[in-house]
Amino acid sequence: MYDHVFRAGAIGTMMLPHRIVMGAMHLNLETRDDDGAALAAFYAERAAAGAALIITGGVAVNAVGAGGPGYAVIGDSRDRAALSAAVRAVHDRGGRIALQLFHAGRYARPGAGEVVARPVAPSPVYSGFSRCTPREMTPGDITTTIDDFAEGACTARALGFDAVEVMGSEGYLINQFTAPLTNLRDDAWGGDAERRRRFPLEVLRAVRAAVGRDFPVLFRISGNDLVAGGTPPGEVTALAVALADAGADALSVGVGWHESPVPTVQSQVPAGTWAAVGKALKRALLAVGHKDVAVIAANRIHDFAQADEALSGGELDFVAMARPFLADPEIVAKSAAGRPDQVNLCLACNEACIDRSFGTDRVSCLVNPRAGHEEEFPPPQPARHRSGLFGRYAVIGAGIAGLEAARTLAGLGHHVEVYEAAARVGGQFRLASQVPGKAEFAETIRHHVRELREAGVPLHLGRRIGGEDVPELRSFDGVVLATGVRPARLSLSGAELPHVRDYAQAFADPEALHGRLVIIGGGGIAVDLAHTLTTDPDAKVTPEEFLARHAVPENAPRPGTEPAVRGALREVTLLRRGPRIGAGIGPSTRWVVLRNLKSAGVQMLTGVTCREITPAGVIVTDAEGRDRYLDADHVVLAVGQVPVRHLAPLLHEAGVPVVTAGGAAGTDGLNAVRATAEGLRAAHRI
Ligand code: SF4
Repeated sequence: MYDHVFRAGAIGTMMLPHRIVMGAMHLNLETRDDDGAALAAFYAERAAAGAALIITGGVAVNAVGAGGPGYAVIGDSRDRAALSAAVRAVHDRGGRIALQLFHAGRYARPGAGEVVARPVAPSPVYSGFSRCTPREMTPGDITTTIDDFAEGACTARALGFDAVEVMGSEGYLINQFTAPLTNLRDDAWGGDAERRRRFPLEVLRAVRAAVGRDFPVLFRISGNDLVAGGTPPGEVTALAVALADAGADALSVGVGWHESPVPTVQSQVPAGTWAAVGKALKRALLAVGHKDVAVIAANRIHDFAQADEALSGGELDFVAMARPFLADPEIVAKSAAGRPDQVNLCLACNEACIDRSFGTDRVSCLVNPRAGHEEEFPPPQPARHRSGLFGRYAVIGAGIAGLEAARTLAGLGHHVEVYEAAARVGGQFRLASQVPGKAEFAETIRHHVRELREAGVPLHLGRRIGGEDVPELRSFDGVVLATGVRPARLSLSGAELPHVRDYAQAFADPEALHGRLVIIGGGGIAVDLAHTLTTDPDAKVTPEEFLARHAVPENAPRPGTEPAVRGALREVTLLRRGPRIGAGIGPSTRWVVLRNLKSAGVQMLTGVTCREITPAGVIVTDAEGRDRYLDADHVVLAVGQVPVRHLAPLLHEAGVPVVTAGGAAGTDGLNAVRATAEGLRAAHRI
């Protein structure tokens, strides 16, 4: 199985046992005041489970190049100590680790902390990502920065790293030099193609000179910037060849900038879409005789079947995966053992990883809330390794919080029983699996249930626990109450009319909704529902269609249109009292979803107060204070949720230790990330 993945390969002088590289992820663990304990524990677990080469998150080569306050700076002795701890931890488990040399340029976020001074860049071009206009680098700044890259590489080698990767893509400093959009200079560092690629080449040459010929140097190149005014395709190819000439051992091929109108890593992007970009560069290198420079594909390859497929034609040497290692630290070991069914799949939701990496919260994972907290929560133990005394626990509710609590308890060796009132597990999470781009949420449920079954956990489905069952629950050492939420009702004239339903009823039977539809509510659930109701669930987009739709081959990236609009079937209007539709959706995803809604013709009204629901519509007062009548064949209420936790006081009264998790614990800020994190914590607290 996965024959193309599981064969040895080389990056320069470094032999690796298989073809998967754990790609760079900024974790917000790098500068914690813990001597690198959390960072080391994170990497150690992955190295122990077969991650052969780990690339660290970007480590800034100087303070002004840090992406924000959570970024390590190579010149900082405390950060170096943390990095050393990570190196030791990986080496102790037989893995290899490369340090990513990073400079954010105009993507550094001033004001995010004291670490970052005013960002610098080739030219003072405003960035919507960092919301600032950087200072133009002087020629002196440029040569000093090149020296900083070289110094950083030297330090990495001295710290025991096995390789370095120069970050030259995703719109960061080096990429800003290669793109006409952000390099407006007309001096030795800009003005034409050759001068625009001088900076990356000088950086690479300096790094190579600093570490010597035998030390592996990878370069993360932008295969396609996906922004108007980005590096032209011919210049990308010329840069790749020049980097190979200058001694790069591998090119890791990224795509897209933070300002790109084309989604690159969101679930709406078909898996494997970007492998073609890496293959094109490999062909260009082979055409000029660079057969020993490894090409690494990245972005939207999230399981080993896709990686094997990408590698199968021999046009790629390695595949870099990042988020899948957050979702399942053992993805390599499980795949090598021929057990892909055991892999906890990354959903490409970005909710606990990329979205958090823009701030200062620890990066973690929706489907694996232990990620980033490895030193806090011990890994689950196979039954044969367990010893000691264990308890008997009940988990009431098998939504995502309950499933997480149950699998954690089972992994700790306890006897667990799960009670679920519905006939199926999953709760709200199962509803989400109907939403376009979220079909794989069902895979998480499948994974967790398989784990529970393998651990021998009884799942009592269709078993509603009531007050009369509390005496029976006293036989347990404790209860995790994860009974979730129910849709909130709306106190509004007409809310009880027959054509009005709540969001759960709408998800349960979307085919019953047709014609003109008004959704009262504009939060994440309302947006998901509108997306579901306006998209053909059977429509599949191939990578080729996706690229064509976004005009990627012509290098004129543009917002794509939703291919599978069901606008003819339904005319949807979203009504939100507040100012922002989908306010709780993460920044990496919200713009994609809202654009899809727009292309589906969904009307999104904000600042609206609903006055009355009538048999044929909804009376509202709009943001300008005008009363309006909106025709509607159906009205759906998505106006929040109410915790279901009536058992909690009864359990307390009966003296049964109880911990609530997920929606049952409260609905403020409730989402799947919070629910799974609480499931994990409840299992450890009970
Ligand atoms: Fe993948 Fe979502 Fe986990 Fe990020 S939070 S690693 S995207 S499942």
